[in-house]
Amino acid sequence: MKVRVGVNGFGTIGKRIASAITLFPEFSLEGIVKRTPDYAAFQAASKGFKIYAPTNDDAAKLEEAGVKVAGTIEDLLNRVDVIVDATPGGTGAKYKPLYEKHGVRAVYQGGEKPDVARVSFSSLCNYREAFDAESVRVVSCNTTGLLRIICTLQEHFGVRKVRATIVRRAADPKEVKRGPVNAIVLNPPKLPSHHARDVNTVLPWLDIWTSALVVPTTLMHVHSLYIVLETAPSREKIVKALREAPRIMLVQSGTTGIKSTAELVEAAREVRHRYDIPELVVFEDSIHTDKGELVLTQAVHQESIVVPENIDALKAMFRLEEDPGKAIRDTDNRLGLTKTLW
Ligand code: NAD
Repeated sequence: MKVRVGVNGFGTIGKRIASAITLFPEFSLEGIVKRTPDYAAFQAASKGFKIYAPTNDDAAKLEEAGVKVAGTIEDLLNRVDVIVDATPGGTGAKYKPLYEKHGVRAVYQGGEKPDVARVSFSSLCNYREAFDAESVRVVSCNTTGLLRIICTLQEHFGVRKVRATIVRRAADPKEVKRGPVNAIVLNPPKLPSHHARDVNTVLPWLDIWTSALVVPTTLMHVHSLYIVLETAPSREKIVKALREAPRIMLVQSGTTGIKSTAELVEAAREVRHRYDIPELVVFEDSIHTDKGELVLTQAVHQESIVVPENIDALKAMFRLEEDPGKAIRDTDNRLGLTKTLW
């Protein structure tokens, strides 16, 4: 029996999750919820996705624009076992009573407050905690990037504390109304930024502080990390552990010439659908360690990094695979996470 899935919100994250779901035989995509009649609605229709509208008024507007509508969100909720909510931050919490009314499980995104769901989720850290959960929140893109590296290092060497500066992209490439256009903004001025608290929703024991700056770029986020390990491994051992870890791509700047987000994205344009890089990219040449202290620089493709975690969350909630390693490997194979851009 396939798990029947719906996706509410068909923007940056929702359209990627919907496409990803179609690659897994254990899921059937029953439909997506689209509010606005625009190019994305026509694309969803041409992919054969059934389109539902949040309200009857929205349905009428979509139909008027020539988009065939299968019903309202309530009709979709009657047909699914689980909904992946990819609506704008805070909107998922407003939908929660509706999902509960229909007895449908829910996967929320990182723009929601942690209390929207029973579990804040990151596959490499706490896959099993989502077993049988009625609701799961996949943490944000930056938090997913932080947790992938922290849980990999924790597994091999132990992690005592983390200090991170997060350089955030101002907007996604499609957005036309967000900035800054010409500034570097402290986000927020008072520390820590919310990312530390968000990491603590998954790893409550971790000593972590984060600061964040927003910069005028759309391509990717970059993190500068300072980590104190429980042990003092050699640089070679750290590089080996990261190279062998799932969902982490090491990129050597010296041999490839890649030392920026622009060059990463340009490389991805040649080989990846939508130039997505769901892997966390660690700049190998930036890895420096001395007596258990570690610094490194990593990059996060905000549009796609949470897609594999959403698939894993579904697998865990329905116990389709109980072994986290197997679940993650299967997800990565089907999504084409080759850990290389050539
Ligand atoms: P988005 O604005 O690109 O997409 C949201 C979609 O939901 C839009 O198509 C919008 O029209 C639609 N929508 C708005 N109100 C709706 C409603 N009431 N009912 C149904 N649909 C509605 O947003 P996004 O970037 O995809 O973000 C979605 C979630 O994912 C947020 O929680 C966000 O924090 C999180 N997230 C975003 C990113 C990112 O960088 N874009 C990364 C990780 C997580």
